[in-house]
Amino acid sequence: MPVTRTQIITRGLANRCPNCGGRTLFKAGTLLELDRSCRDCGLKLEKDEGFFLGAMAINYGVTCVGLLTPVAALWYLGALSGKVAIGLVLGLGLIAPVALYRSSRSWQLMLYYYFLPQHLPANRRELSGLEDENV
Ligand SMILES: [Zn+2]
Repeated sequence: MPVTRTQIITRGLANRCPNCGGRTLFKAGTLLELDRSCRDCGLKLEKDEGFFLGAMAINYGVTCVGLLTPVAALWYLGALSGKVAIGLVLGLGLIAPVALYRSSRSWQLMLYYYFLPQHLPANRRELSGLEDENV
């Protein structure tokens, strides 16, 4: 069965392999070290050097836009004092990128395969099977 875009999104949000859905993105026993390939299906996770620069951009965007900007807006509107806002910005600015590290890598894979689902091995097999049937 081909992997649908909905499956790619749900697997990406759950930090699972986009191809097989296994919890195999990160090396066993490590917290932050991405595996080179999925242990269950063999999907190559590290495409090229610099592939995960997009994950850094996602991490930066979520941290700044999703967390720090609301704090700044609340400070600007007077809902937070300056000291509380600075404390929140410093705390969130240090903690959020580390907390989002794993997810941002998974989201990068999710976005890549969302737009190029034909690159998943499961979908390639399905496509090649269809081509064989048509011959
Ligand atoms: Zn897999």
